[in-house]
Amino acid sequence: MLLMDRDSVEVFLPDPDECYERLRRARFGATVSCVYCGESDPVIKKGTTGKGAQQYRCKECETYFNDLTGSFFEHRKFPIEEMFYMIKEMRSVPTAQIASELERDYEAVLNFRHDLQELCGELDDLVLSDVCEADEIYVTAGEKGIEKEDESPRSRGLKKRDEEASSRTNRQS
Ligand SMILES: [Zn+2]
Repeated sequence: MLLMDRDSVEVFLPDPDECYERLRRARFGATVSCVYCGESDPVIKKGTTGKGAQQYRCKECETYFNDLTGSFFEHRKFPIEEMFYMIKEMRSVPTAQIASELERDYEAVLNFRHDLQELCGELDDLVLSDVCEADEIYVTAGEKGIEKEDESPRSRGLKKRDEEASSRTNRQS
């Protein structure tokens, strides 16, 4: 039998379904609209992903997406409840302690923390709904080789969709 020091550590993770519900409400409001074309009328539910996110099909542009598509939480190795837990705890708990509680690699948790800081600025001011509402599409595009614009993390991270169009005119010529 393995003896683990961690037996005494209890981690209270939120319910995954509640996390997704909260994420949906923050991202979409009452009606889910397509993350690609913005249509909401012919979006239908199409099962769930392996991680438990609701999957949708947009009849307007014939694409599939899910609760996480284009969000800060997409393409992460952590389940949604652990990410919500980390966002809540990182304001006051050291990264090493969170990694130990979740039995995750310190590096992985630290990377998540850095991404959060890049998105939201100081973690002291971090609000979960900001993270849920933040659109990450341009951040992942940056990782694929497009140069990141020289803006502060705060203004980048909290930019809303309708502000993106106007920001395009700010390009250097
Ligand atoms: Zn669509």
